[in-house]
Amino acid sequence: MKQLRPFVAGDWADGEQSAVARDTYTREPVAEVQSPGRAQVAEATRAVAAAQAGQSLSPYDRYRILARASELVLERAGALAESIVTDTGFTTADARREVERTAQTLLLSGEEAKRLRGEVVPIDADPSGPARVAFTVRRPVGVVCAITPFNSPLNTVAHKIAPALAAGNGVVLKPADQTPLTADLLLRVLLDAGLPPGLISVLYGGGRTVGQWLLEDEVPAYYAFTGSTTVGEQIQRTIGVRRAQLELGSLASTIVCEDADLDRAVRLCVNAAFRKAGQVCTSVQRLYVHEAVVDDVTAALRSALDGRAIGDPRDPATFIGPLIDEQAAERVESWVSAAADGGAEVVTGGARTGAVVQPTVLTGVAPDMNVMCREIFGPVVSIRPYTDVDAAIDEANDTPYGLAAGLFTSDIGRALHVAGRLRVGTVHVNETSSARVDLMPFGGVKASGFGHEGPAYAIRDMTEETLLTLGP
Ligand code: NAD
Repeated sequence: MKQLRPFVAGDWADGEQSAVARDTYTREPVAEVQSPGRAQVAEATRAVAAAQAGQSLSPYDRYRILARASELVLERAGALAESIVTDTGFTTADARREVERTAQTLLLSGEEAKRLRGEVVPIDADPSGPARVAFTVRRPVGVVCAITPFNSPLNTVAHKIAPALAAGNGVVLKPADQTPLTADLLLRVLLDAGLPPGLISVLYGGGRTVGQWLLEDEVPAYYAFTGSTTVGEQIQRTIGVRRAQLELGSLASTIVCEDADLDRAVRLCVNAAFRKAGQVCTSVQRLYVHEAVVDDVTAALRSALDGRAIGDPRDPATFIGPLIDEQAAERVESWVSAAADGGAEVVTGGARTGAVVQPTVLTGVAPDMNVMCREIFGPVVSIRPYTDVDAAIDEANDTPYGLAAGLFTSDIGRALHVAGRLRVGTVHVNETSSARVDLMPFGGVKASGFGHEGPAYAIRDMTEETLLTLGP
C-alpha cells in the first residue's frame, strides 16, 4: 500500500493522524494517508510564506516550470487517469479527458505568467495632476490556500495551483479527503518539473480539521475554493477581509426550443448529464423542453441510454461508474423514489446497486421536488415541458444558484433574449450548461459564488495591483 504524508517545508513529514484510502469502486485499501496536526498546518503555511518571500523565479522561469509540468502530465497520463479512477470511480474515459484538460490548464497558466502586466495611468491628465509618471504593477498576494472538491481531483486542483504559481505565489493545497492519490501525483509532477519544493505544501485531511485550521490560519492571503455552498459560506465567515475565489454549488438547466437541432441537443445532453455519473457542477439536471418536441427528446434520451453498461469504471464498455460513496447513491435513489411517489414518471433508470445508480430520466416532475430544486450531483435528468420560453427561464432562474445554463435554438433573436434573462455566470447557445473550455472565464453568480477560474482571470485575482508614481 502507498503511504501518503504531508508535504511540509519542502519535504514529506510524518503526520499526526492516519486513515486508509480505498478504491471508490472496489473498496480495496490503496493507501495509508497521514494528515497533519494543527501545529504542522501552521508550520506548513509559514514555510511556504518564507519560501515565497525569498524566491527569485522570473515570470519566464514560472512559465518553463508550468509548461514542463503540462508535458509531464501527458507523459504520465495513464498513471494519472488510473489514480482518478481509484480516487473517484469515474470511468477511465472520463478520467483521461480530465488529464488532457489538466495539461492545457497548466500550459495556459504558464503562458499567463508571461502576460502579467499593469497599466500606465495618465495622472497628469487631471487638471490638478502633477507632472509625474504613474503605473500599476501586479504583485503576487503571497500564499494562496487551495481547497478542492472530489469531483475534479486533477483539473480543478490545477486551476487553483497553476495560476497561483504563475503569479509568483506559494501554495498550500488541501485536496478533497476522497482524492489524495491524484493530489500526490500532481505534486510530484510539479516537483519534477522544477518547482522549488518550498513553494508548495500539500496537506491531506478532513474539512473540519485541516480545512478549518487553514481558514483560521492568518498566513494565506487568498483562498481558492471549489465545493459546496455550505462550506463556501463557512469560508466567508472565517477569513475576514482576505480575498477568495468561491466556486460553489449549482443546479444547472438547459433549454431545448422547438426549432433546435434535436439530434445535437440530445447527443450533447447525454454526455453533459451523465459524464462522471452526473457529479459535475454544470451537469444538466433540469432540462426544459418545448412541448412540441418533448416527446421526441424524451424518446431519444431513453434510446440513447438503453442497454448502457454501468458499474466497473475500468471496463472500457462502462458508461457510468459508481457515485463517490454509497451514501451519495442512497440519497440520489431516495430523491428519485420521492419524485416517483409524488407523480413523476421514471422514463428509464432509477435503480441503485451499492454506489452505482442507473442513468435516470424523469418526466412529470414538479418544481418543488428535490430532483428539481436541490443539487442532485448524480446521474439524473428531470424533463419539464414548456410552452412559453419566458416561463422556462423564470423556472430556471428560480433557484439560489447561478452557475451555467445551456440553450438549443436556431433563432438568434431568441438566443439573445434567453441569454439576457438567465441569471447565471455562463450561457452556452447550442451547447449544454456543461460546455466548459479551460481558457474561458468560469464562475457563478448568486449562491454559486464569485471570482473566476480560467488562468487569465484567476491570475488577476491572485495578484494585487499596486500603483507607483514617479516624479522629479
Ligand atoms: P465539499 O464542500 O463537501 O468539500 C470541498 C472541500 O472543502 C473538501 O476539500 C473538503 O474537505 C473541504 N471542507 C469541508 N469543510 C470544510 C471547512 N469547514 N473548512 C475548510 N474546508 C472544508 O464539496 P464536495 O462534496 O467535495 O464537492 C461537491 C460540491 O462542489 C458540489 O456542491 C458542487 O456543485 C461543487 N462544485 C462546484 C464547482 C463550481 O465550479 N462552482 C465545481 C465543482 C464542484
